[in-house]
Amino acid sequence: MNPDPVTRQRLAARVDYYRDMGIYDFYRRPVEQDVQLNLGAADGPAPATAASPLPVIQDKPGALKAIREDIGDCTRCRLHMGRTKIVFGVGNVHAELMFVGEGPGADEDAQGEPFVGRAGQLLNNMIAAMGLKREDVYIANVVKCRPPGNRTPEKDECDICSPFLLRQIAVIQPRVIVALGAVAAKNLLAMNDSMANLRGRWYDFRGSKLAVTYHPAYLLRDPRQKKEAWKDLQMVMKFLGLKAPAKSTEE
Ligand code: URA
Repeated sequence: MNPDPVTRQRLAARVDYYRDMGIYDFYRRPVEQDVQLNLGAADGPAPATAASPLPVIQDKPGALKAIREDIGDCTRCRLHMGRTKIVFGVGNVHAELMFVGEGPGADEDAQGEPFVGRAGQLLNNMIAAMGLKREDVYIANVVKCRPPGNRTPEKDECDICSPFLLRQIAVIQPRVIVALGAVAAKNLLAMNDSMANLRGRWYDFRGSKLAVTYHPAYLLRDPRQKKEAWKDLQMVMKFLGLKAPAKSTEE
């Protein structure tokens, strides 16, 4: 078989997709001569199109539930030892915009939901400034368990956990992903660069556009950088056709 470029692209996207699902081994079956490749099985994802080579997932809540079930009562890395709750992700499964943070803090560990502490309050304000509500977007982290003392997650912890994040992204298929801070940016992009270099531009990421901005916890420590973060969010708003809400005259 010598597939044409579009089929080749679809096959590559399909292989990436299965890899993110944790499926690495493929076996060749003999195929009949001139058989038509159907990359969208009837009971699987809808067929990909040339414009969107990723399989479209019809039952997004079900697909996310399956990922959560695969995580289970996870003991794959040492972070499980100190956690209270696994923090999977929250939000609109059909979101056009997805935020990716680093990992849960104390509040998130207690409640099982990402970005519910002080940094979460600021993230909610950032979302509102973009003319959206928290319920409009999807929010997840690179690691699903709280690192002890809120330390930065280590490379092996990120490597073990990030396949689940990639699967969440493959289900949500947001138009835009915003990586909040260096841990999210470096893990998603597999680039080791400074935040100054990583911000301020678009990246193509598995069918989505990806932008990098400062982590809300960093902005709480250094509010002078909020102006820069707002520039990043404005770039995202322009792409998504979002308008900042008019300022209330009652304030
Ligand atoms: N910081 C993160 O990166 N994620 C959270 O969920 C909370 C704080």
